[in-house]
Amino acid sequence: MIRLTDINKTYPGAVPLHVLKGINLTVDKGELVSIMGASGSGKSTLLNILGILDNYDSGEYHLDGTLIKNLSENRAAEYRNRMIGFVFQSFNLINYKNALENVALPLFYQGVSRRKRNILAMEQLEKMGLADRSHHLPGELSGGQKQRVAIARAMITNPSIILADEPTGALDSTTSRDVMTLFKQLNREEGKTIVIVTHDPGVGKQCDRVIRISDGLIVPDDNIITQPNISL
Ligand code: ADP
Ligand code: MG
Repeated sequence: MIRLTDINKTYPGAVPLHVLKGINLTVDKGELVSIMGASGSGKSTLLNILGILDNYDSGEYHLDGTLIKNLSENRAAEYRNRMIGFVFQSFNLINYKNALENVALPLFYQGVSRRKRNILAMEQLEKMGLADRSHHLPGELSGGQKQRVAIARAMITNPSIILADEPTGALDSTTSRDVMTLFKQLNREEGKTIVIVTHDPGVGKQCDRVIRISDGLIVPDDNIITQPNISL
């Protein structure tokens, strides 16, 4: 589903910053994986490349078999809208629109009629257990409810992949667990491929696989270190 080969990314500037230094990574269809690493290690940069929100300098990114490289803004938007749903730490909801309108928004950009948008958005909110909050503004919702609205918005275009950048970073531990339960459900029951950037080892543990990034490189699985060293 996702295949990165030797991806490099440098942020230009007075002192250019080489953030990704040759990332090789494969995520299969239907996997639930987390990306962990210290603050500043390049996790968000990597996720933005996966989400075709940002370009890379060299290497290759194949998404569902298609090379994603130097796309026009229109083509990038087309792939994004068709394939990918995003969830952010700070929810990124529009404060003056209610939950239903927030969830329906991606369909507005796809030219879906208001009536159909509202029906589909209501269905998503029901799935997230938020039917009774559909007419509340984000400011009237708890953190966990806001994140579930954001997940409903990510899901409404029926993407194959969900990319989440520290989705539980602003939530308490009980609410984090609820959000992770929801992600696991979307993965198991709807076959969504899910990539979650997190600081929380508790979140990592609930994923099929933890990908570690350090100083712009993927750190090889260190399982071997936990095995007794027989050769000595
Ligand atoms: P993480 O999400 O792991 O904390 P980021 O990918 O956000 O890390 O950032 C990696 C490094 O790149 C950091 O040093 C950050 O300051 C820098 N950085 C991120 N975005 C930009 C940008 N748009 N321009 C310049 N530097 C950036
Ligand atoms: Mg980040």
